[in-house]
Amino acid sequence: MDYGEGDAITKHDWTQWLDERAAAGLIRRLTVAGSPQGPRMRIDGRERLAFCSNDYLGLANDPRLAAAMHAGIDRYGVGAGSAHLINGHFESHDRLEVELADWLGVEDARLFSTGYMANLGVVGALVGRGDTVIADRLNHASLIDAVQLSGARLSRYRHNDLADLEARLERASGERMILTDGVFSMDGDVAPLAELVELAERFDAWLVVDEAHAFGVLGQTGRGSFEAAGLVPGERVLRVGTLGKAFGTAGAFVAGGAEPLEVLLQRARTYLFTTAQPPAVAEASRAALAIVRDEAWRRDHLAELVARFRAGVAGLGGLERIASSTPIQPLVVGEADRAVAMADRLDARGLLVPAIRPPTVPAGGSRLRVTLSAAHEVADVDALVSALRECTNIV
Ligand code: PMP
Repeated sequence: MDYGEGDAITKHDWTQWLDERAAAGLIRRLTVAGSPQGPRMRIDGRERLAFCSNDYLGLANDPRLAAAMHAGIDRYGVGAGSAHLINGHFESHDRLEVELADWLGVEDARLFSTGYMANLGVVGALVGRGDTVIADRLNHASLIDAVQLSGARLSRYRHNDLADLEARLERASGERMILTDGVFSMDGDVAPLAELVELAERFDAWLVVDEAHAFGVLGQTGRGSFEAAGLVPGERVLRVGTLGKAFGTAGAFVAGGAEPLEVLLQRARTYLFTTAQPPAVAEASRAALAIVRDEAWRRDHLAELVARFRAGVAGLGGLERIASSTPIQPLVVGEADRAVAMADRLDARGLLVPAIRPPTVPAGGSRLRVTLSAAHEVADVDALVSALRECTNIV
């Protein structure tokens, strides 16, 4: 999901570049939160009903996670002090890795400080110059950057187009790696995993699946895309999970077989050359994992909200609805200024829904990206649907 932002910057005339972006309605602005993450947030000094976070299970402000983090601070202090392989790998990190691997039924898991870094780490450790990474066109920006940094050839197939993928696998040289989001971050749809597994096996390729928006959310017990598809990942599958979304904390991990995970430990530059996340954060993630595992009602409630939202917006005109059954529910409106105008109108009604514009999505694909959380109530979704009805009528 990086549509050539770099291309626009050729002469380093930043004044002109900023002016052009402003004229095209593409300038991004920070908002400032003054309350914990959740459906009702104080943002820029005003209360808003928010539909934009990745806190899918409503754990970011859960008192049990906060208590675990406090206990972690009391025991280990606030900072890890160094990289994992120096002396920054604490008992908290070690236990979390074991618990994540057990939960997913894989041999090993390796913690990274962010999902962005996990993606750079896993790709760069396993492939390089002379190899080919065949990647879905709508993959997250961190996966695109990962391939570019690795030095491997990047071959991008049309979104979820298996024939295009297969043709590219046939032409590929060196080691092959298929790279995909499990749930696509801007469209909310899912990858055709069974077919990807079959192709990876046939071409003896790595299959790396970014489960950032899937772990905790998809599957009966939250184990992500593979569980939802009824598949057990094989030896050459690696899954990346982020802890800053459904887990409500921060950080990420790669899960898979013992040997590739050992290679990551030895070679992943974003593991080797960065400070480990604070151990107290890992303690909060351990508490989150227990809740992700045990509180299935959160996924059930979320599924109910998703179904209600989809039914509510089914009849709205002037919007393209993407077939998504995940908590990511995009409403494609087309041009950037129209998306911004709609987001502004929702904002005036106290609802926070982000307008996503190029380069995050393709030109003409600007959208309102609604994300739902188990912390929302049915009444919140109803309020959003009725505000959307009013806004689509007037824009
Ligand atoms: N992969 C995907 C699909 C994502 O959406 C994100 C975050 N937006 C990341 C990776 C990066 O994760 P993190 O925020 O932990 O760096």
